[in-house]
Amino acid sequence: MIDFTFTENQLAVRDIAREVAKNVVAPTVREYDRKHTMNPELLPAMAKANLLGFCIPEEYGGLGTDYLSLGLACEEMEYADTSARVVLSVHLGLFCMSILTWANEEQKQKYLIPAAKGEKISTFGLTEPAAGSDVRGIQTTALKAGDKYVLNGEKMWISLADVADQFLIFAYTDIEKKKARDAHGISAFIVERGLKGLTTGSIEGKLGVRAGSTGWISMQDVEVPAENLVYEEGQGFKVAMFCLDQGRYTVAAGSCGLIKACLDASVKYCKERTTFGTPIGEHQLVKQMIANMVKGYEYSRFLWMRAGVLKNQGVRNTRETALAKWVACDEAERAAHSAVQIHGAYGYSDEYPVERFFRNSKGAAIYEGTREIQTIMQADYALGNRIDKALERDLPKVEQE
Ligand SMILES: Cc1cc2nc3c(=O)[nH]c(=O)nc-3n(C[C@H](O)[C@H](O)[C@H](O)COP(=O)(O)OP(=O)(O)OC[C@H]3O[C@@H](n4cnc5c(N)ncnc54)[C@H](O)[C@@H]3O)c2cc1C
Repeated sequence: MIDFTFTENQLAVRDIAREVAKNVVAPTVREYDRKHTMNPELLPAMAKANLLGFCIPEEYGGLGTDYLSLGLACEEMEYADTSARVVLSVHLGLFCMSILTWANEEQKQKYLIPAAKGEKISTFGLTEPAAGSDVRGIQTTALKAGDKYVLNGEKMWISLADVADQFLIFAYTDIEKKKARDAHGISAFIVERGLKGLTTGSIEGKLGVRAGSTGWISMQDVEVPAENLVYEEGQGFKVAMFCLDQGRYTVAAGSCGLIKACLDASVKYCKERTTFGTPIGEHQLVKQMIANMVKGYEYSRFLWMRAGVLKNQGVRNTRETALAKWVACDEAERAAHSAVQIHGAYGYSDEYPVERFFRNSKGAAIYEGTREIQTIMQADYALGNRIDKALERDLPKVEQE
């Protein structure tokens, strides 16, 4: 059966996110965007509303909601600002959902519960100065020394780098495999802030997500206890790709929130602004841009919803999630481009929100797999070059209550 209606519980999560977006993000976003800093009230407000772990099972500090609820919350947060949705993407999608799946029980007790409760902010460190799409090209190493691993390397473009308490870091544990660019030499670690040799900082001068935190992590002889290895040595690439299945889902759903924000702002302006004696929404070329936003929003939404249903069912959804992310990000970029165009010169200033939408829309076509990487993935599925097997571990199935 195909059911396009959301349940009361799903809508309740959406409404919690909507309240935070409306009351905490929207009123101050222009101010923080101009200041290039994060609103210090955002993370406490999200934690208080249980938004930092709601789709994590109750036994691990969450509310045990389903994954469609996560998509709805991402739409709401990004409707207000992309930086607010990014928090859900990295803390909940890339870190918590992946730790839930791949970490052992002790690690879940120590790192997942405080994260899901919003007591510890978490992020994901894969990208490096010289390696983004090319994950096998990472240079960070984690060499075993007794009951510790010693980490050395730099991570770059890491969301929440300067505010997170704990990081999921990917590094080569096998130097021969590193030389051979063999992904089986990569392992994943939970690294805590405060360890000697670990420093973080913010990246200045960003195009978008200016009301968010994006930064770098430097590790110089950071000694991480061996028990912080996630899953098994040499399995980090698999863990990282699983993380991206969750993160891309949040980006896909969030991008629909951005398209809707572009649409609503544009419709409003179409009715206010007149040229040649008529509201601009009466001109057919402007209608075309509005219609394209509606089209982009509706079909992108179906794609993330399909991925969400598969997540709820515990079925591998790498292809479906990547397709949803690619399509929604493309449509969000197009919608933001049109929204600025519809606003004319006013769209060129931050007096209206659409120039922020325009800048923010660009990032999603880059992070969590660029547009080009997504394109290649879909072609490779179609050509039979890429076939996904069921993973040995997946998110827990959830009932849609
Ligand atoms: C705002 C923001 C937040 C981010 N947050 C995080 C985070 O929290 N954690 C994290 O680990 N990373 C994060 N990233 C990094 C992001 O995931 C990378 O930027 C992304 O994977 C692309 O890598 P790159 O920038 O090195 O580009 P490159 O990989 O160098 O690519 C450069 C260009 O070449 C193209 N290209 C590369 N390879 C191919 C190919 N095989 N075929 C065709 N075209 C190709 C790309 O599509 C792109 O257009 C963030 C980035 C941004 C902008």
